Amino acid sequence: MVWGKGLARRLYGLTGVVWSKYLDIDERGRLIVKLKGYKIDIAKLVSEKQLPGAHIRILPIIRYMMDQVYEAFMEAFRKFGYKGAFKPVYPLKSNSTPIVVDTIWRYGIKYSWGFNAGTYPEVKLISKYINEKPRLLVVDGIKDNKFLDLLSKMCDSWEIIVDIESMRDADLLSKYQDLNIGLRVKVTSKSSGLWSHSSGLDSKFGLLINTLDEMVEKHPWVPNRTVLLHVHAGSQITDKNRLEDIIRETIILYNNLVKTGFKNIRYIDFGGGLAYPYIEASNHVFSANYSLNEYAEILVKELVKSAENTPDIVFEGGRYIVAPHRITVTKIIDTRPYSTSDRGETSYPIVEEIKNTENIKELVYVSRKAREVITRLMLKFPINIESRRILEKLLTSINEAITSKAYEIIHRDNDKALEELIKTPNYVLEELVSPTRRFFASFSLFSHLPDTIIADQYFKIIPLQRLNEKPEVLGVISDLTCDSMGEYSSFITFLPNNIEYETEDLFTSLDHKLMFIPGKTLRLKGVPLHIPRKNEDYYIAFLDTGAYQDMLSMNHNLLNGYPEIIIDIINDNLKIIYENLESAENYPL
Ligand SMILES: *Cc1c(COP(=O)(O)O)cnc(C)c1O
Repeated sequence: MVWGKGLARRLYGLTGVVWSKYLDIDERGRLIVKLKGYKIDIAKLVSEKQLPGAHIRILPIIRYMMDQVYEAFMEAFRKFGYKGAFKPVYPLKSNSTPIVVDTIWRYGIKYSWGFNAGTYPEVKLISKYINEKPRLLVVDGIKDNKFLDLLSKMCDSWEIIVDIESMRDADLLSKYQDLNIGLRVKVTSKSSGLWSHSSGLDSKFGLLINTLDEMVEKHPWVPNRTVLLHVHAGSQITDKNRLEDIIRETIILYNNLVKTGFKNIRYIDFGGGLAYPYIEASNHVFSANYSLNEYAEILVKELVKSAENTPDIVFEGGRYIVAPHRITVTKIIDTRPYSTSDRGETSYPIVEEIKNTENIKELVYVSRKAREVITRLMLKFPINIESRRILEKLLTSINEAITSKAYEIIHRDNDKALEELIKTPNYVLEELVSPTRRFFASFSLFSHLPDTIIADQYFKIIPLQRLNEKPEVLGVISDLTCDSMGEYSSFITFLPNNIEYETEDLFTSLDHKLMFIPGKTLRLKGVPLHIPRKNEDYYIAFLDTGAYQDMLSMNHNLLNGYPEIIIDIINDNLKIIYENLESAENYPL
């Protein structure tokens, strides 16, 4: 068996720019955070204090992401000889937790990192910061006089640009001559990914060109006061071609505006959209088919090629900056099997038939037949305890027979069997990636990972211990809420073709479920995990929960709040702070 650290890293996705740098597995099989020579055992942080779980915030990762973005743009500027400036702003809605905002503001001094705010409370939050040199503050959303009064008072510390998106906005802003203006315009190019509805003429925000025409007629001061052109085609744009379309369209709009009287536009703001790689595959809705460097190059190259002037580039990505800084850790409280392990003595003809198949093709055929048998029985069976007992046993016997037969065939005939298995969708493959256990974790998906409910967002999961042992079963993660939506069962694996493995490594060790097929993307319906031993503190972690999850948190079943462990490096010294520990009492241990 070659199962070990290398395969574990691949299986759980500790790859890519962030996690290959910051996470590692130590010789005892425990997940550790690596920071400046410090090695922090994550499970220990939580178990030491007897916590049901915690949000672990690693602040140096935020700074690292800011550096990465800044460097990528500087490189693109050098490569294409771009003379404009780079003006990053952080959109507060991605995460306005005070410690996060503070980290970005403090570290942002050296890059003059500004902010993007969409509401009054967001502006209030940053109004307390005093900048030595004014930083950019781009404000969109729906305003009123109170909101604009506050902005007017902040002009010493911030270079404020207020977006106009409607006639109402223009009417309001005619009374605030000291505030510069941005035009937020809709783009017709469709973006891609889960948030593509933010683009197009029917999108929520942005001006129609015809509205702009009417506005300029009524408010002739608009062109002169406009300093920024703003588009935002949605978060997490995954497709490079769509991104290019949006950039090109924006530059054409920019050129046209400059030619038709908007002479003072000096900023072009392409909005957010830089996709964070929730997985490292490049052909997937949860990751982009471009890298950070390519993103910067696309923007800069198109400007160099097509723009009339040399506007400064405003970068408004938030997801990319904050997504990896929070790791959500939770303890497994209970595991429940999907079925009884007592099969009894009965032998069923259909199960015998499954056992007698000789290759995947035959097994696929008989499995379909078995499904039909079950469906027919369900219709015909009387509803009583005895028939339920039989039905449950039969169903389990069929599922287990399919799994163990496939396991046997793949062992005998690895490549050919796997090839046959993934040719077309079928019950055998479905069974091989289906869970056999429920793992109840001491948390709430609604509160800690709301996007799994709202948007089907994917998060990597990894156990914090026993990573040197091959996973035992595929399990669904269930939360504490009395809601069937409070379950998470998605696990995507995509190990490369050239990895070293043995057939046995493909399978979990107890229920013999398939974990990966080299060279293929496999979406499992359960997470590869170990069954906690008696009295063992078994923790799992969800990675990349730092963008949007804090702000969207729900209060289902009165479960809200979680202990926080804030990790930082200050003057080369490791600093770990525990906060919000009182919230732990709401969760079972
Ligand atoms: C949400 C939003 C962003 C952030 O986009 P991400 O791709 O999630 O980083 C940027 N700008 C505006 C105007 C937004 O509404």
